[in-house]
Amino acid sequence: MDCVFCQIVAGKIPSKTLYQDEEVIAFRDINPMAPTHLLIIPKRHIPSLAHLSDAETSLIGLMAKIANELAREEGISESGYRLVISSGEEGGQVVPHLHMHLLGGRRLSGKLC
Ligand code: AMP
Ligand code: ZN
Repeated sequence: MDCVFCQIVAGKIPSKTLYQDEEVIAFRDINPMAPTHLLIIPKRHIPSLAHLSDAETSLIGLMAKIANELAREEGISESGYRLVISSGEEGGQVVPHLHMHLLGGRRLSGKLC
């Protein structure tokens, strides 16, 4: 198991965890690109969004709900924030374990890519 996020789930790599339940864990990104930069991931190893099965689609809704709650806790719910899921090499995904970025706390670039 050399997946860095699976190791965070297993507690073998430390993380600043803000939330977890049976399915999902959320923690601070180690290299924040904005004042608030959190990652919301499934505990189960799913390599990317492209690997999500039809039976697992509700997981994305759950991750978005948790992101919204964390945005409120971070005080950026009203000012605004962005959720990003990169999938695959050309999508810019570096860690091959599905994750959602929650970014905010400053005015984000108007560029999507
Ligand atoms: P992506 O480019 O979408 O695959 O994003 C991967 C993110 O994981 C990057 O923003 C990294 O800074 C972040 N990251 C990598 N290793 C760790 C770690 N050990 N703890 C927290 N965040 C990490
Ligand atoms: Zn993994």
